[in-house]
Formats: sequence, C-alpha cells, structure tokens
Amino acid sequence: MTGRFSRIQRFSTEDGPGIRTTVFLQGCNLRCPWCHNPETVPPAALLYYAQNCIGCGRCAAACPQGCHRLTAREHRIDREKCRLCGQCAAACPCGALEISGRDIEASVLVDAVQADADYYANSGGGLTLSGGEPLLQPDFCAETARLCAARGIPVLVDTAACVPFSSLEKLLPFVKEFYVDLKLPEEEAYRSVCHGSLELVKSNLRRLSGAGARVTVRVPVIPGYNDTPRAAAEIRETALSCGAAALSWLPFHRLGAPKYEAMGLPYAFAGTPPLPPSRLRMLMDAASGKREGEAADAAEKGEGGGGEEEDKGRERRFRQAQPPRP
Ligand code: SF4
Ligand code: SF4
Ligand code: SF4
Repeated sequence: MTGRFSRIQRFSTEDGPGIRTTVFLQGCNLRCPWCHNPETVPPAALLYYAQNCIGCGRCAAACPQGCHRLTAREHRIDREKCRLCGQCAAACPCGALEISGRDIEASVLVDAVQADADYYANSGGGLTLSGGEPLLQPDFCAETARLCAARGIPVLVDTAACVPFSSLEKLLPFVKEFYVDLKLPEEEAYRSVCHGSLELVKSNLRRLSGAGARVTVRVPVIPGYNDTPRAAAEIRETALSCGAAALSWLPFHRLGAPKYEAMGLPYAFAGTPPLPPSRLRMLMDAASGKREGEAADAAEKGEGGGGEEEDKGRERRFRQAQPPRP
C-alpha cells in the first residue's frame, strides 16, 4: 500500500504524548488562510530556500523543463512549467530545493518509525499521522496504523476531521486517540474561510467520541478570525457538547512564513504579530466561564498561567465539565 507524504519528523514532542515520530501526509481538502504547513496542501510542491543556494547551476542542468534561470544576481524558477518531477532537488548539493509529496510504502514507513521504538516505549510516545489532511488517504493511514499496532507502536491521528466518517471509521480498530482541529465556531464562517463544513466536523467528533476514541480538540487561535471571548466560548461549548476529552489552544505564530516564500506564494499574515500569551490566557479564561473583566485584569497583570501545569489544570477542569458518555 502506497501513500504520499511531505516529511517525516523524528523526536517530535508537540504532536501528542511522549516522544513521537510525526508523518506529515500530503494533500488537504481545506484552505485555511493561516495554514503553517502550506507545502502539504497541494498534491505536490517545490520549495526553494534561497539562503541555502550557492548558485552552482546543477538544478538548471538537471531540469528537463528548463525551469531554473540563474544570473549573477538572481535565481528564478518558472513554476508554470514545473512538472514537480524532483530532478532539480535530487541534483542540488545544498538542500536548497525540496519536493513535498513523495510516495512511500506503508511497510517502509513503519520500518522507519520502528527505529525509535525504545523512545516511544520509555516516554509514552508513538507515531502521529498529520498533514495536510491524513484522512484523504484513509486506506494508507489504516494500513500504517495496523502495521504499527502489530508492532506495539501507538498511533495518534491529527486531523481537521472534515472528511466522511467512513474514512475515520477505517482507523478505529487501530487508533484510539485523535487530535481534531476546531477552527471556527460558525458554519458560515467555516465554509467561507476554510472551505469545509463545520457540521461534518461536529458530527465526526460526536461519532468518534461515541465509538470510544479519546478526542482532544485543538483550536488554532487566529487574530481576526476566532480571537474573541465569544468565539472561544462557542468553540469550547461545541467541543464539550461533542464529547471531546480535552481542549488545547494553539496560539497563532508565523513559523510557516518561510515556506510561503519558498513556494513563491504570498503570505496573508506577514503583518500579523504572534498572539501575545496574555491574550491567549484571557481567551481561555473567558471560554471557561471566568468573568470577562476578571480575565482581562488577570491578563493585563500577566496572571493566568501559561505553563504546562496550568495547561494540565485547564484540561482537568475541562474533563470534569464534560457530560458523561452514553
Ligand atoms: S521539479 Fe522537475 S520540472 Fe520542476 S523545476 Fe525541478 S526539475 Fe524542473
Ligand atoms: S543546485 Fe541548489 S545550490 Fe545549486 S544553484 Fe540550484 S538551488 Fe542553488
Ligand atoms: S486543515 Fe491544516 S493543513 Fe489543511 S489548510 Fe487547514 S491548516 Fe493547512
């Protein structure tokens, strides 16, 4: 079984419990304007990191389409003509060119993942399937998870869950834990901004929780889109009512900006500063019912936590507040 991936990240500590290998699968059905993995969204992408380029010209010699033009002052890539064959990236001696979107056999991937099995066992980690939207390749994900389960490697799936439930269902025999993004609180906004259906995401959340999976809802907090107390409260309420076991708030950052540049794409958030921790704390407090003035006062004084212990405390409070499962 072959799947298409963007990159494999070892020793990841952000994408689930413990030490993990995160596999970013290629392709996404949503179009979130703040996406910080834009290279995973199309079926394939060519990235050019100018700071790594020494101007050797090997890429130009390797390209069958004549896409690379080098002069003393610049290196231009004609992306219209590019067929994403990857020959220039293979010829580059400096890692200045990279293709996102290569094929891999599930068994080869799992062999690579198993190399860090001791770290998973000692830390409570495992494999995270992320993206892009991993569930656009449900059979590949299911086969990878099945092979991992047979080797005792836990698998977590990080998804926007805006896919048919049948895709998620294929994973349920092998995957007990999901991270699901809840990006916006209203259907209309979700449709116009992300180009997907919030109702479908909510339905999938309910069905996943009902099937016994442990679901953590993750909320990217994006200035101008969902960074109001009302939006935060609505998102939290949605997560609770859909049976999520935990809630995690992810503040907006600009770490994806270099990737837009490397893809020759404009970055809509270039002028947007990262979300201040005090603002995030205020929103979290407001969402969990703390009076708005109280939360804002605390935020201004720099109170309200932000450390790991506080996050755990918030998650505990959230779990206590959730309705019992049927
Ligand atoms: S990916 Fe292929 S077609 Fe595109 S620039 Fe590189 S060598 Fe040329
Ligand atoms: S092969 Fe790599 S280092 Fe050489 S010119 Fe092309 S991008 Fe630059
Ligand atoms: S769902 Fe994730 S990968 Fe897809 S566009 Fe949105 S942020 Fe990017």
